[in-house]
Amino acid sequence: MAVPALFFGHGSPMNALGGPWAEGWRQLGQDLGKPRGVVMVSAHWETRGLAVTAMARPETLHDFGGFPPELHAFQYPAPGSPELAARVADLTGATPTDQWGLDHGTWSVLAHVWPDADVPIVQLSLDRTLDAQGHYDLAKGLNALRDEDIVIAGSGDFVHNLRTWKRAGGEPYDWALTFNEAVKAALVAGDHDRLIHWMDLADNATLSVPTDEHFLPLLYVAAQARPDDPVAFFNDRIEGGSISMTGVRIG
Ligand code: ZN
Repeated sequence: MAVPALFFGHGSPMNALGGPWAEGWRQLGQDLGKPRGVVMVSAHWETRGLAVTAMARPETLHDFGGFPPELHAFQYPAPGSPELAARVADLTGATPTDQWGLDHGTWSVLAHVWPDADVPIVQLSLDRTLDAQGHYDLAKGLNALRDEDIVIAGSGDFVHNLRTWKRAGGEPYDWALTFNEAVKAALVAGDHDRLIHWMDLADNATLSVPTDEHFLPLLYVAAQARPDDPVAFFNDRIEGGSISMTGVRIG
């Protein structure tokens, strides 16, 4: 049985400490059980050239500023897997590195999904020399891992506009809702070309995706779909008007 591929809308790093989304993530972890490992593509690791984390004990990176001390002190001591990193390097041509760790796109979410921190995690970077099609094609090369009990995951937000974000909360903007629903419809239809050409998904798409690093991890997850895989959503809401928390489970 192939394991599912997962996309997480991660939102604020503060979600690591709890809040309204944690329950959806925890529930997902309980439904899935523990896989043999995770390959995570996070919005927060962009490189020139493809890299994969290869250390046995990845550090918890606090790759942000201005948050409370308890968030800066947060640790998610999940192991790495040099073995899995080597397999990913084989499949994708990524260069193994110890120059990263687990960034908040990874641990703010997975700390809820697998709170025991005993599922090995490697991160695969976003190679900024690739275009959207290039990311999607590269991701296809990981598909066999689904038969090896490895979860391929992405962490970002379909809609990620911090400039319009309402700190105090509030209703989603129309353009954000429309874009979020268009992404979901393309996923359900298996129409990945529409995701690759996300600028044409809806009017004002660039309001939802002002920069594409939070969108691209979705392509890595979509690329894992096989015929007849069910597509399901969790935490499917928009926070503060313009941050989509929608998660996707394929398979
Ligand atoms: Zn983020």
